[in-house]
Amino acid sequence: MADRVLVSKSALKKLPMTAADGTPYCPKCRTYGELNLMMAAAGSTGDGECVAWSLPVYAESDRLTYEQMVAGEPCRGCGQELLAGGEPPSWVGKGSLFYTDDERAAHDAAERAFKQRHPFCHALRWRMQGSGVTHCARCCPPAPLSPGKWRQISQLLTGARDHRVQQARRDGTKGDPHELERRLPGRARPAALVLREYRQSRAATLDAVDVGERDLMAASIPEAELMFRWRIQLDCGDIVELLTCGTERVPSAMSWSWAGSPMREGTYGCGGHRAAETPYQQVRRYLRRSTLHLEADEKLERGPETVGYWTVELACGHREHQITPLRWHPRDGHRQTQPNDPREVAERKSRLEAIKDSVGALDYEHWILQIEQGRLEPDPMTTCETCSYEQPIIAFQRIGWLVPPTAAEASPAPNQAPPQPTRSELEHRVAVLEAELARLKGARKHR
Ligand SMILES: [Zn+2]
Ligand SMILES: [Zn+2]
Ligand SMILES: [Zn+2]
Ligand SMILES: [Zn+2]
Ligand SMILES: [Zn+2]
Repeated sequence: MADRVLVSKSALKKLPMTAADGTPYCPKCRTYGELNLMMAAAGSTGDGECVAWSLPVYAESDRLTYEQMVAGEPCRGCGQELLAGGEPPSWVGKGSLFYTDDERAAHDAAERAFKQRHPFCHALRWRMQGSGVTHCARCCPPAPLSPGKWRQISQLLTGARDHRVQQARRDGTKGDPHELERRLPGRARPAALVLREYRQSRAATLDAVDVGERDLMAASIPEAELMFRWRIQLDCGDIVELLTCGTERVPSAMSWSWAGSPMREGTYGCGGHRAAETPYQQVRRYLRRSTLHLEADEKLERGPETVGYWTVELACGHREHQITPLRWHPRDGHRQTQPNDPREVAERKSRLEAIKDSVGALDYEHWILQIEQGRLEPDPMTTCETCSYEQPIIAFQRIGWLVPPTAAEASPAPNQAPPQPTRSELEHRVAVLEAELARLKGARKHR
């Protein structure tokens, strides 16, 4: 990390400002001769972030549990305190205009120490409530939330949802007409069969988890009475049947999953019509590492080897796996393994040009990028299978409740149902919890 050196002005002039597809390279990194792409601005902030120096370098598995944090374990990113051991320094929580001279000196020292720990990170920063230590959004895993809090929030949200779905069953609410809604060709599967399958798979899933986890799990697989049936049509023409909890959200407004990866809203997976080429996507987060044993391969002149096998989250939102050297950790960064001075780059590009017709367009584009970056190891991008299976949902049809409401359910005797919190009461309780959550996270993000 310390061997980053600014390049000369004339060398800087020769470096391209953008990649072949027009994506700008990070202006900060470019001054060090490193060509790191800027990420498409996430959200509404407008300013892009650099894929190499603002992406997290901790893995999800580096996060402390709540118990470990309370027991005083330091941050696994920087080794500094997470929860303040004693009284916070007196400048914490004060506006810098009101610092005494001593406080200003203490604050500036903390600031210098932070810069020393994170000399190049151009990422967000955060601090826990009551602590004088600043953590880096690139290097330091976010602080955990207490398990009780998670349970409380989840129960509250599930309770409110179930109540609304039961109400919709009683009222016979159909939901507003939707632009994608139409009659689809063919017919739905027999209701009794779908119901039996649902009940069986629900029971099997609940049996497989510990008793203590069962409520949480039950919330994500609701009772059959809460489920609504749909048929959807995909862009490839296929028609698929789906179940959702209630009718508040139509199937095209949800995120479904495919082979363990979440899909984008408005899409569903199809194994029969995958894209001809698998696209490359930027790795956004490294989640967990396991290991993989590779057999020897004579053609590649490689002996047997055990490598790191990371579950990664990509810029498209999908999950994939990526192979790295066994001991590699995201904080080791992506090392440049080939020179990328203009002459070298031009030479490699011309060699690639010669075989251009025999490679896929997406592979070609990616290899050009690798050449310009000097072949980073591990590659900050990887192919995304889920992207190649995802199909837009182009139309859907309501089938009806998985368990049709009975006449008694449709006209309940007054005062029979136990009093339920109103929607605004629930919203208030959620707001209070969220405020507490934000406080716990000490989400004091600033640049
Ligand atoms: Zn950068
Ligand atoms: Zn830290
Ligand atoms: Zn950092
Ligand atoms: Zn299909
Ligand atoms: Zn993808």
